Amino acid sequence: MTVRVGVIGTGAIGQDHIRRLECKLSGAKVTAVTDVNQDLARKVANTYAKQATVYANDRELIAARDVDAVLVASWGPAHEASVLAGLEAGKRVFCEKPLATTADGCMRIVEAEMAHGKRLVQVGFMRRFDSGYLQLKQALEQELVGEPLMVRCVHRNVESAESYTTDMAITDTLIHEIDVLHWLLNDEYQHVRVLYPKKTKHALPHLQDPQLVLLETKKGVIIQAEIFVNCKYGYDIQCEIAGEEGVISLPDVPAVRLCSNGRKGTEVLQDWKKRFEAAYDVELQAFIDDGLKDEPASGPSAWDGYVAAVTADACVKAQESGREESIELPKKPAFFNTQQPRLSKYRRRQR
Ligand code: NAP
Repeated sequence: MTVRVGVIGTGAIGQDHIRRLECKLSGAKVTAVTDVNQDLARKVANTYAKQATVYANDRELIAARDVDAVLVASWGPAHEASVLAGLEAGKRVFCEKPLATTADGCMRIVEAEMAHGKRLVQVGFMRRFDSGYLQLKQALEQELVGEPLMVRCVHRNVESAESYTTDMAITDTLIHEIDVLHWLLNDEYQHVRVLYPKKTKHALPHLQDPQLVLLETKKGVIIQAEIFVNCKYGYDIQCEIAGEEGVISLPDVPAVRLCSNGRKGTEVLQDWKKRFEAAYDVELQAFIDDGLKDEPASGPSAWDGYVAAVTADACVKAQESGREESIELPKKPAFFNTQQPRLSKYRRRQR
């Protein structure tokens, strides 16, 4: 059996996912594509998915009889309408982050999915499928360091584009930490403060860079997250969790150790896409596998998309106010209490 996928948005990540579905993963076929830029959609179909039909818009693609599942990779403001239309048609939907650009929009999706009665939506928070984060999760579940007390994480990029603004440090960058950390800690966020250290000379005038985000969870864990998007030296993701019995850290990306010209060391990744390439494969395979087995979607849920949106809103408010802001979430509906993906299954795939 094959899951026939229609892809909405054939830009950078849409093309990556199409290649993945067509060339790397099993059980899937791209049968339809669309993009507001129809020339691009035709070019991408012609290059990576020759048998795919190019549709004029998301509605026509979603309605197509040979589309079982929809992959939304258009720009953020278009996501909500496509996801809601997919749910209305009873189709599985993989949606790149953000699920919607507002918390209210995410809640509309949460409600639509609950009304449908079965989990069909997976949000593209791929870090939950990264082998390093899965090892951290397993270590916490096995209580190797006891109760977590403090988390220190780092999200550094070589440089940012001119269009990157101060709030995007939260909505585009920290959003991945926001998702993965509450999942890792099995905890909920409660308060946030944002501090602006001395600004780097490499940031454009409109951008505050670096930033320090201090999140406190309901269990009292303090998270210190550094966002530094003009760090110059590379793409660097770090996460260290200090517990009552020890400390665990995200493993470094394996790289050749080079000794030359009086120096010893490893290269640092420059391209963010390479850091989570395997995780993108595994998250999408999980989505396809759920479809093949006709099981409820088991990856990051619409509720997780909502949690990320509410938390990001509070972080942006804290950027603007300079004060501590509350993060208030309603109780998670039982509908979203599905089993976490089995860790061993995903780790085996990434070897
Ligand atoms: P991109 O290169 O700009 O591609 C988006 C494409 O969607 C563009 O061709 C755009 O056309 C098209 N589009 C916009 N609105 C549309 C609509 N209503 N229907 C169909 N197509 C539409 O952006 P990207 O980097 O691929 O990012 C796409 C999404 O993935 C974003 O939400 C982004 O946040 C997310 N993303 C996630 C990750 C991750 O790590 N999980 C990484 C990268 C991106 P125009 O250019 O003509 O507007």
